[in-house]
Amino acid sequence: MNTPAVKVERLEHSYSERIALRGISFTVFENEIFGLLGPNGGGKSTTFNILSTHLPLVKGEISVFGNPRRANADAIRKLLGVVFQSPSLDKKLTVTENLRHHGHLYGFAGTILEKRITELLERFEIAERKNDFVETLSGGLQRRVEIAKSLLHKPKLLLLDEPSTGLDPGARILLWKLLNELRTDEHITILLTTHLLEEAEKCTRIAILDEGTLVACDSPSNLKQEIGGDVIKIGTQNNGHLAAKITERFGMSATTIDSLVRIECENGHEFIPTLVAAFSDEITSITLSKPSLEDVFIHKTGRRFNNEKMI
Ligand code: ADP
Ligand code: MG
Repeated sequence: MNTPAVKVERLEHSYSERIALRGISFTVFENEIFGLLGPNGGGKSTTFNILSTHLPLVKGEISVFGNPRRANADAIRKLLGVVFQSPSLDKKLTVTENLRHHGHLYGFAGTILEKRITELLERFEIAERKNDFVETLSGGLQRRVEIAKSLLHKPKLLLLDEPSTGLDPGARILLWKLLNELRTDEHITILLTTHLLEEAEKCTRIAILDEGTLVACDSPSNLKQEIGGDVIKIGTQNNGHLAAKITERFGMSATTIDSLVRIECENGHEFIPTLVAAFSDEITSITLSKPSLEDVFIHKTGRRFNNEKMI
């Protein structure tokens, strides 16, 4: 197999007393769109900032395309394109001026730089806005300029921290089209962070981070298959009471998540009639579904992925 694009081993990080990463390990292969998925505070940005070399590597090991971070951080920086969560464009400059300025920082100049800028403007379909001030562009276009800027020096690995945040649904679709094109047409490996389950679904593989621990790492479909079977969610007045009774009667694990009782089982459609017959007085609603990534998270942590959202 090829050298991995990124190898992270036993990575730990603390901000004084607060532990942000508790020894996480994962590998990103060349030409993946790899997602670091997790709720807020999971440790995604900390991992991102260490990978992008904006935070020091204190404990653990990282290599990027075979370059060990401790020995050669400069070599790694050349291989990376980095897009931060907070915008880094100068809004009072035009699109081209932003790109040119960034090119100068990387030591490019003259016709080589101008040619590269033209290529990127066309690639990202922003050529007609090249002389506009960045502040006049929509959020989606600004994000595209941001990504174009990060690719000026032709990196092999593109790192993006929560790239969809703040974008409307249409701009998100365009962003993903672009990321997929970068992967397939230009063979760029992409590592991004997200707290959106529907975005994680689009990645080739994901690592789920929760409170600084990596709880799962695989393709979205493998993770869902691993749970297997079906998920039944039952509405009731007293979920703790019903969960205990289901466990007692059928010997299966029933957990309470918010106001619902949740069961994982094979052939859920066959079990539902038995369940309803047994507890008809207590069940107010019942749903059957295939496992989602949220179910994967619940399965691994016992908690909802995002408490603000209803199932
Ligand atoms: P995520 O990006 O998944 O939301 P972060 O990596 O930003 O997670 O945060 C992980 C943990 O580290 C959280 O508990 C957060 O409060 C803490 N943390 C992050 N940045 C800092 C910082 N600069 N100083 C202190 N604590 C921080
Ligand atoms: Mg973050």
